[in-house]
Amino acid sequence: MSSEHSNAAEVAHNLATTLSDKARITTDASSAEFKELLRRWSDLNIQVPSAIIEPNCEEDIVQIVKHAAKHNIPFVAKGGGHSTWSTIGSGGWIIDLSLLRYISINTSEQTATIQAGVLTKPINEAVTNAGFMIHTANAANVGHIGFLLGGGSSVLLGLHGLAIDALISARVVTANGRIVIASAIENVDLFWALKGAGQYFGIVSEVSVKIFPKTTEIISWACIYGPHQIKEASKAFKEVIDAGDQKSFGAAMITLPPTFPGSTMPVIVVSVTQFRSEAEAEKVMKPLLDVNPVAQMKRPIDFSNLTDSADKIDKKGGLKSNVSCGLKTFKPEYLENALGAWIRLVDEHPDAASTFFMFIWASKEAMNTFGDQSSAYTHRDIGSWSFLWPSATTEDAFQAAVQSSEDFVASIQSGQEESEKAIFPNHSRVKSVEQRYRGEETRRKLGEVKRIWDPECRFTSQFL
Ligand SMILES: Cc1cc2nc3c(=O)[nH]c(=O)nc-3n(C[C@H](O)[C@H](O)[C@H](O)COP(=O)(O)OP(=O)(O)OC[C@H]3O[C@@H](n4cnc5c(N)ncnc54)[C@H](O)[C@@H]3O)c2cc1C
Repeated sequence: MSSEHSNAAEVAHNLATTLSDKARITTDASSAEFKELLRRWSDLNIQVPSAIIEPNCEEDIVQIVKHAAKHNIPFVAKGGGHSTWSTIGSGGWIIDLSLLRYISINTSEQTATIQAGVLTKPINEAVTNAGFMIHTANAANVGHIGFLLGGGSSVLLGLHGLAIDALISARVVTANGRIVIASAIENVDLFWALKGAGQYFGIVSEVSVKIFPKTTEIISWACIYGPHQIKEASKAFKEVIDAGDQKSFGAAMITLPPTFPGSTMPVIVVSVTQFRSEAEAEKVMKPLLDVNPVAQMKRPIDFSNLTDSADKIDKKGGLKSNVSCGLKTFKPEYLENALGAWIRLVDEHPDAASTFFMFIWASKEAMNTFGDQSSAYTHRDIGSWSFLWPSATTEDAFQAAVQSSEDFVASIQSGQEESEKAIFPNHSRVKSVEQRYRGEETRRKLGEVKRIWDPECRFTSQFL
C-alpha cells in the first residue's frame, strides 16, 4: 500500500467527525461494500480510490470538498456511474452522491427539485404520478444531474428542447467549498457554463427544473428489418427524419435480434416514440411500414416505464464505451455503412456482438426555440446523431469494436466541414474539445468561467 494511499484513506477517516450521522466512508478495498460501491456502467479504465465517501446532505459535500482541498487530495464526483470518467486511483477519493435521493414536485409551479444522487427511473415515476413528464435519459440508472450537465438529450427533445433548456437553477458546491446558486439572475456565468459543460466547475448538489403536463398518449412503435432490407429501410428512415415531426423521437439501431440467442446476424431496429394517438402515429410510421418490416411492435407506454426497453444496455460492468458524431444532415448510406461495419466487426470478433451502432433524431425546432438559448451547449444545429456503443466480452474484441466505431465516425466526418464536426458532450471527455464545444468564443468563455470558479483545476483542467 503506497503512503499516498494510506494518507488519503486516513484523511478520509478523520473527516468522519465533521460529517452528518448517515454519511459513509469506505476505505477497505477488499470489502464487499467497497466493491459494490465501485461498480459502474463500464469497467473500462476503472481504478481503485483510497476512499469512497458518501455525503448524506449538501453540508457533507462542503466538508468533503474543503478537506480534500486542505490536504490536496484529488477527487471525482459520481452520480449514476454511467460515464467512464467518474473513477480515480489510489491517493484519490470518489465522492459518491447516491445517498442524496430527494425529489420534490411542485405541480402548481410545474417544477421539480432533484438532488444529486437521483437516477432516471425514480424521477420518471415521481413526475408520472403527479401527471407530468420531464427530460430524463433513456436508461433507468443514469444519474439525472450527470445527464443534465452535458446537455441532456431525451425523448422530449422535439417537444421541449434539451434538458438544460428546462434548468431553472442549480445549487453548486464550489471548488473552495462554498455553496452558490446559479440561475438566470445569480452567478449567470456559472449558470451558462453548467448548461452543457457542467461537470467541470463544482459539485451540483441540487437542481430545480421545469416539468411538463402529460396531455397525450405516448406510443412506442418499433419496426424490425433484416439486412436484406437495409436500402429501403434507410431511405424510409431518412424520409421520417426529414419530415421534422416535433412530436416524435426516433432511433435506428444495428444490433443483434432480441430473441435469437447465439445468432450473429444483425437486424435493423427503427423505433419511434410519439406523443399522440395510435391513429395519428401511424401516419408518421407510414414510410417505415411501407418497407414491410419483418416484425413490428407497437404499444402505448406510461412515462414511468419509458426506460424499460433500454434495461439491457443499462447493466453495470463489462467493457463498454460511447463514440459519437453529429449529423447536420442524415444520409441513407450512413445506416447502410453502419450495417457493413457491424457485420465486418462481428465476423472477425464474435465477442463484440453486443456492440450496437445507433442513429437518433428529433426535430431541431424546439431545441432552437425553447428556453434560454444561451448556454455552453454548441450543437443546436444538429438534429441527428450517430451514437456507437462498442461493447465486448474480451479485451481484443473490445479494442476492435472501438476502432470500428472510430473508423465509422472518421468516414462520416471526412465528408463534413471542419466547423460541422461535433461530439456529444455527454459521451466523451477525452476527445477533441473543439468538437465537444464548437466555436472559439464558447471555449474562450468556458476558460474564463473556469478561471473564476475552479482555478486550481479540482474538477479537471478542461478549458484551461
Ligand atoms: C445506458 C446509458 C444511457 C444514456 N442515455 C442518455 C440519454 O438518453 N441522453 C443523454 O444525454 N445522455 C445519455 N447517456 C450519457 C449520460 O448522460 C452521461 O454519461 C452522464 O455523464 C452520466 O451521468 P452519471 O451521473 O450516471 O455518471 P457518472 O459517471 O457518475 O458522472 C458523469 C460525470 O458527471 C460528473 N457528475 C456526476 N454528478 C455530478 C454532480 N452532481 N455535479 C457535478 N458533476 C457531476 C461526474 O464527476 C462525471 O464526470 C447515457 C449513458 C448510458 C451509459
